[in-house]
Amino acid sequence: MPLPLLKKVLPAHARLTLRKLYWLSRSWLYAGRKVYCLLCEGSFRTFLPFGTERRPQALCPRCHTVERHRLLWLFLQEKVKITEKPLEVLHMAPEPRMQTRLKGLLNLRYRSADLTSPVAMDHVDIQALPYPDGLFDLILCSHVLAHVPDDAKALQELRRVLKPDGQLLLQARLHPHAQTLENPQALTPQQRLQAYGQADRFRNFGQDFGQRVAAQGFSVEAMEYALSRTPEEQTRLGLGKKEIIFVATPLVHEAK
Ligand SMILES: [Zn+2]
Repeated sequence: MPLPLLKKVLPAHARLTLRKLYWLSRSWLYAGRKVYCLLCEGSFRTFLPFGTERRPQALCPRCHTVERHRLLWLFLQEKVKITEKPLEVLHMAPEPRMQTRLKGLLNLRYRSADLTSPVAMDHVDIQALPYPDGLFDLILCSHVLAHVPDDAKALQELRRVLKPDGQLLLQARLHPHAQTLENPQALTPQQRLQAYGQADRFRNFGQDFGQRVAAQGFSVEAMEYALSRTPEEQTRLGLGKKEIIFVATPLVHEAK
């Protein structure tokens, strides 16, 4: 059945299950011991190329996660101690495999949220979150803010629902230019496609991403956490190159 027709006749959950089964059924083709996926705990002879520029060693043949997911999971395990502590967690735009792992941790009180995603537990607008002030110890927000009309408002909301000693972990696609590119003339999906290369983007973040986050009342640390491993181990775990995790903590004395 052609893909557009499948999309019409199958609900989103059924399509996700089918996709999962498809990848599971193919993963035996890549049996081996050269690489190890932290998220599905599978060993394979290789990760697969992925992305428009076909990054090598990117995609897990079984669980369909990419470098940034595996790096974040490593960080969560080692730095956040995600498996050990009772934490209130909010996961924005949940990646299905990451969500499965987090839901399985009984020490967490876990919510996931997205505007439309069928896998999210709550359907919310990140610019106006329905949660009370100071609820969460940890918020995960990976590759979301470029797709939000007002990223400053979204960051203010994330800070509002974070505990004063909580952590917001951010990942974003960063372009090499110094300043974030925002074109006020790009109003329609077609214009945004021309301006940013994707119709659902509202900006292309530059190297000033950390400063933009800090401007909304956070202290921000940019961590290239793959460097905690040897180059051989980085390759074996498929952690990618130059992927940064931004650790943002609320500035306590910042006026709201
Ligand atoms: Zn995997």
